[in-house]
Amino acid sequence: LIALDQVNKRYGELRVLRDVNLTVRRGEVVVIIGPSGAGKSTLCRAINRLETIDSGTITVDGTPLPAEGKALARLRAEVGMVFQSFNLFAHKTVLDNVVLGQVHVLKKPKDAAVRKARELLDRVGIGSQAAKFPAQLSGGQQQRVAIARALAMEPKVILFDEPTSALDPEMVNEVLEVMTSLARDGMTMVVVTHEMGFARRAADRVVFMADGEIVEQDTPGGFFGAPSSVRAQSFLAKIL
Ligand code: ATP
Ligand code: MG
Repeated sequence: LIALDQVNKRYGELRVLRDVNLTVRRGEVVVIIGPSGAGKSTLCRAINRLETIDSGTITVDGTPLPAEGKALARLRAEVGMVFQSFNLFAHKTVLDNVVLGQVHVLKKPKDAAVRKARELLDRVGIGSQAAKFPAQLSGGQQQRVAIARALAMEPKVILFDEPTSALDPEMVNEVLEVMTSLARDGMTMVVVTHEMGFARRAADRVVFMADGEIVEQDTPGGFFGAPSSVRAQSFLAKIL
């Protein structure tokens, strides 16, 4: 579904993505881990074309990423993104946050969009909060709105960039549970996270990045059981 071929990106002298090759199959859950500055966010943002790349190719469903215009808006609907900082529309209600993209990008009639939004808010467990504004919700609830908003676009894949890092500890699980249930339902997901329990439980594949490179990738059992690179070993020793 997603293919990166020899992708390179630099900021000045700093090479943030070095010859990155990665494929994500339909229905697969790929968890990306690695130290700060490894290029994990840059990689996610590149797949959504929030960042440009210097060389190499990225395709989604066999099509190279469009540069601009309507095709880019469509790509952003197909490739959903959930950020650490939620990025909800602060001046819109929870319901409108989930409705607006459906109406403006997918051109759905308002009543169908509202129906879908209510269904998705129920699914992530916050149906009763629909009329509130984001600031009136807890972080965990806001992040679940962000997930519902991404789902409303009927994406082919959702990219999650540290979706629980900004949350108080007691709210981490409610978000991970929603993500685990999406994974179980067959959603294609790329997840940058430091939650190793989630990686073990939900990942089909763990990708370890350091210094802009994919250093190794394996099943969770293989990776956590016996990481083959020194860099992965020392990373795991620090966090586990
Ligand atoms: P973290 O775990 O801290 O989120 P990361 O793996 O997501 O790290 P990136 O955010 O992708 O890392 O950043 C990779 C490198 O690129 C870092 O060294 C960062 O400082 C640098 N970088 C990121 N964005 C920019 C930018 N807009 N301009 C210059 N350098 C940048
Ligand atoms: Mg990051």
